[in-house]
Amino acid sequence: MSDAKENADLRLGIDLGGTKIAGIVLDGEARVCAERRVDTPENGYNATLEAIIDLVMALESDIGESGLRLGVGTPGSVLPATGRLRNANSQCLNGKTLGADLERALSREVRLANDADCLALSEARDGAAAEHRNVFGVILGTGVGGGLVIDKQLITGRNGLAGEWGHTCLPWPSSAEMRQPPRCWCGLDSCLEAWISGPGMTADHVRRGGYDIPARDIVERAEAGERLAGATLKVWLQRVARAMAMIVNILDPDVIVVGGGLSQIRWLYSEVPKIWAQHAFADHIDTPLIAAAHGDASGVRGAARLWPLETEPT
Ligand SMILES: [Zn+2]
Repeated sequence: MSDAKENADLRLGIDLGGTKIAGIVLDGEARVCAERRVDTPENGYNATLEAIIDLVMALESDIGESGLRLGVGTPGSVLPATGRLRNANSQCLNGKTLGADLERALSREVRLANDADCLALSEARDGAAAEHRNVFGVILGTGVGGGLVIDKQLITGRNGLAGEWGHTCLPWPSSAEMRQPPRCWCGLDSCLEAWISGPGMTADHVRRGGYDIPARDIVERAEAGERLAGATLKVWLQRVARAMAMIVNILDPDVIVVGGGLSQIRWLYSEVPKIWAQHAFADHIDTPLIAAAHGDASGVRGAARLWPLETEPT
């Protein structure tokens, strides 16, 4: 058992995803002391809550500690007035008071944030954007989200919506895109998530006559020279460029960092910067577009760092 000072330096992070729940313990210098992963239960909110509680207890048992500071990254966001989750694509979470339920079960204060917020915070603190003040973090995966860090501080916004980029409309749509806007699970038409998420890329590929295959297979086929897959990938890159030009116009961050499964598409970093100045309100854009340094672990590291280290601003 370590002393009280060391315990105060430890932070426990949980990243609640659609298929996995990841947990991590970081020490005062953000080094990993313990980590675990479990499958996200498929049978609703109570099972998910239990799985998070079990994971916290298991991680604390791994290092012989208890009562660690706990941060949790979730899909969607917390409505500030009620503490209830909303807008989560794991829809069993919506309307639930996850933060209060965890606080009651684990007898401690719990900090909750959107998963893209956690990615942005992690990358701004000690990841790919560590050299920059103002960071927009993007998740491109099963869902599409964003998080905003200004002067190394996470900005959640008056309504808890800052960076909520995935459920805005695809900007500068073509007439074909306007004729057949995809319906998003959230009920709106033409959300970025419906166009540029992994399932969005697949749906687009099917619309142009391709097979119903995952985004990574479309990219592989495009790289192997398959014409139809190449066309799907090219249009996807153009849409991502338009979506990011909108971020540059509104926020003009020092850097845009990309996480999520689609962040592994190397064409993002070579092609999008060639296209986005056609849409942003400037002849030339020199914003770095880079992949998250901590990869899959960025979300869970950022969740732990919802509690700043002693050397960081609160
Ligand atoms: Zn939507």
